[in-house]
Amino acid sequence: MYYIKKRMEIAGCHSLRLSYESKCSRLHGHNWVVTVYCRGTELNPDGMVADFTHIKERVHGQLDHGNFNELFPFNPTAENIARWICGEIQGCFMVSVQESEGNSVLYVSDDATPSDIAAGSAI
Ligand SMILES: [Zn+2]
Repeated sequence: MYYIKKRMEIAGCHSLRLSYESKCSRLHGHNWVVTVYCRGTELNPDGMVADFTHIKERVHGQLDHGNFNELFPFNPTAENIARWICGEIQGCFMVSVQESEGNSVLYVSDDATPSDIAAGSAI
C-alpha cells in the first residue's frame, strides 16, 4: 500500500448556523490548514497514487478566498468541510482541517483501517 499526504493553506470566510449564541455566527475568516491523506494499492501509469498538484487544484482551487457559506449547501463547520474534502479526492481516507492554532478536526472515512491511520500519521 502506498500513502501520500498533501498539506495546503486555504483562506476563506464563513459564518456558522448554530443552536446557541456564538461569535462564530458572524461572518469571519480563517487561514485553514488542510491536510489530505490518500492511499493506493497500485500506482497510476505515471507512477503516482495521485499528483499533488491535482489534489491542490481540486481543493484549494475550489475553496481558496471563497465564502464557504456560498460554496457549500451545508453548515460550513470544519467537520463538514473535512468530510466534503475527503469525498472530493479519489483514494482519500483521512482529512485534517486546522481552523486556528488550537482548533483542529480530523475526519476519517468509514472504510479506513487502523493501519491506514497509523501509516497516514507517520508520513
Ligand atoms: Zn470559523
